[in-house]
Amino acid sequence: MSDRLDGTVALVTGASSGIGEATAVALADQGAAVALVARRAERLEELAGKIRDDGGTALVLAGDVTVERQAREVVERTVTELGRLDTLINNAGVMLLGPVVGAPVEEWQRMVEVNVLGLLYCAHAALPHLLSAADDDPRHVADLVNISSVAGRVARSGSAVYNATKHGVGAFSEGLRQEVTGRHVRVSLVEPGATDTELSGHNRPEVLEGIKKRFSGVERMRAEDIADAIGYVVTRPRHVAVNEMLIRPTEQT
Ligand code: NDP
Repeated sequence: MSDRLDGTVALVTGASSGIGEATAVALADQGAAVALVARRAERLEELAGKIRDDGGTALVLAGDVTVERQAREVVERTVTELGRLDTLINNAGVMLLGPVVGAPVEEWQRMVEVNVLGLLYCAHAALPHLLSAADDDPRHVADLVNISSVAGRVARSGSAVYNATKHGVGAFSEGLRQEVTGRHVRVSLVEPGATDTELSGHNRPEVLEGIKKRFSGVERMRAEDIADAIGYVVTRPRHVAVNEMLIRPTEQT
């Protein structure tokens, strides 16, 4: 049994491509009005156009989640313009891999800023609204979904700092879950494996080569596969909380 999202409002970070884009479409299909957040405004406008053409409601909010003020502003504008906030999909992320020894430290700074601080800023700004939505019609429950990774469960040589950021997301999610679940804000952790998106394209050429080699025989998941899982998580009846979901391509070891 699943609950549709009619009358609810969802904010998706990192909605300009990949998993975030597919998730915004999936939530709009379920009836949610969606606020689309990322830095590339033109990509968000294109996506909003598609959602509106299909009869949905979409609000474009260009912003950088690593700037605390901007993270707060996108949340506040969502509530002002769409009336409430029931669902936060904390999805924006970067993955810059490679050995620790000799790594460009600015890559670590970007990952910590986006994957950890950006996610925390959005959660902090959204929580008061999620708590009030959980008290309210139509569902009497709200959802905060943090997108981690298989890398948040298993550390590997060559991805230590990305592992550190995603393990951090897991720890934060569990601590926050215990804090707010009694007030019917469900905190969920979704941990995808290799998914065909723009994510690995930001790596240095020699690192990208290694990633390609590692996954050469693996049919990657599509962004829609993960959006489907997120859609499942946020449409459970009020008394069911999916705390954690680990999803790998069948061929990924
Ligand atoms: P993409 O690169 O396709 O999407 C990343 C999104 O994050 C983009 O929309 C990008 O938008 C946004 N983003 C990056 N930095 C910022 C920022 N500072 N402020 C706002 N938005 C930002 O990758 P995926 O869809 O694959 O990644 C989504 C999530 O899934 C990430 O957290 C990633 O770690 C996780 N994941 C992905 C896996 C995969 O194999 N693809 C596997 C496991 C986890 P813009 O550049 O326009 O700001």
